[in-house]
Amino acid sequence: MIRFHNTLSRKLEDFVPIVAGKAGMYNCGPTVYSSQHIGNYRAYGFTDLLRRFLDLRGFEVTQVMNITDVGHLRDEVHDAGEDKLEAAARKAKVDPQQLAAMYTQEFFDGLDLLRVRRAHHYPRATQHVPQMIEIIQGLLDKGIAYRVGDEVYYDVSRFPGYGALSGNRGDELEAGASERVADEVMAKKRHPRDFALWKSDPHHIQQWDAPWGRGFPGWHIECSAMSRTYLGDTFDIHTGGENNIFPHHECEIAQSEGFTGKRFVNVWLHAAHLNLEGEKMAKSEGNVLYPKDLVAQGESPVAIRWYLQSVHYRQPMNFTREALKGATAGVERLLNFHDSLKHRADKGPEGVAAVKVVESLDEARVRYVAALDEDLNVAEANAVLFDLMRSLNAMDLTRGDAAATLGFLTDVDQVLGILPVAEESLEAEVERKIQEREAARRRKDFKASDRIRDELLAKGIVLMDSPDGVRWRRK
Ligand SMILES: [Zn+2]
Repeated sequence: MIRFHNTLSRKLEDFVPIVAGKAGMYNCGPTVYSSQHIGNYRAYGFTDLLRRFLDLRGFEVTQVMNITDVGHLRDEVHDAGEDKLEAAARKAKVDPQQLAAMYTQEFFDGLDLLRVRRAHHYPRATQHVPQMIEIIQGLLDKGIAYRVGDEVYYDVSRFPGYGALSGNRGDELEAGASERVADEVMAKKRHPRDFALWKSDPHHIQQWDAPWGRGFPGWHIECSAMSRTYLGDTFDIHTGGENNIFPHHECEIAQSEGFTGKRFVNVWLHAAHLNLEGEKMAKSEGNVLYPKDLVAQGESPVAIRWYLQSVHYRQPMNFTREALKGATAGVERLLNFHDSLKHRADKGPEGVAAVKVVESLDEARVRYVAALDEDLNVAEANAVLFDLMRSLNAMDLTRGDAAATLGFLTDVDQVLGILPVAEESLEAEVERKIQEREAARRRKDFKASDRIRDELLAKGIVLMDSPDGVRWRRK
């Protein structure tokens, strides 16, 4: 039985999906106004571990991760300050959507680099405004929300469950607003803990018409609307960073349950934060690290992946270069083991798999899954792999033993995601990219053709144009 630690109940609970064999999951994703650092990727690594584990356990998963491209204000608690994306776009002197597209692509590149399996949907907030308006209108109709000029606020006094997730009922917010702009916003609210569903600001670049006035949606309403669009009124799992618990997820619950009258989410899972060499990561302090920089410095993407996932998601993580070195050595041992198995499966002593080997593989499989079943106990799951490797390394494996062990490793790699990508699929991918590039060149889109060549180069593939067509080799 799978058990998860539900933030809502603060307990380990058996995971009972709404529909047997299926799992609907919503992950709070990036606000695409800047580069995602390793702390962010730790949270995405956690959702990837969860997704891959549910896949391994045979669930038909529907995974949705939002892309926030409007409405996320600097002062999340007081609904005040500039829209993060628009402030960054003004600074860069580009259109907000241009900036969003750039950072969205960079985000996806980072996911690919760390071999994070793609979600099934990446909805953009700006493309779901009608769905948000529907919920806001519903809340107004029920008297759970109220208008202040062209703006709409949620009346928290109308939702008794507010505070259940975070334990924070928002009562202390009154004293908190010290900045002038926050004071102005707070003065519009009936109660300080009420929060914005719809804001109006003539200077805002991205605006929409709504029945109550022109403006833009608040950040929290995006996730209520997009999760409902793709997963329905009630779904199985919602994840985020622990900093999302309040106010973001508390407000999502209030909006969704206030609107539908049904339970919003069954299981809430939150990833703890990450410090860098013992310090809080802060761009303003110059203390921030991005995965691509680590790779440029010679670190291996799969080792970074492994390291970020190796600390239990509910434990705060202290990212250090020293520990990354240790993780790299561990991954290399596994990869070397995998290589030697491949060699043995081919050239080792003849023979079918021994009963003893098959039994230890079966046992390892059971222990591996059981460890992850227990709220994703990844340390124990990894220990199972190293135990198995040690005991098999001490034996003279036959071709059959090696083949059986390779089968086991391929199975667990559905979760690990560290084994070399199969040669055939890489070749097929390269061939496909070459075709794409040829097509781009035929339509004289040299920008696209250069981009494809650079993409391949980043994967260590060099393209060579020759009279009889394009050939490729490894760098
Ligand atoms: Zn969210």
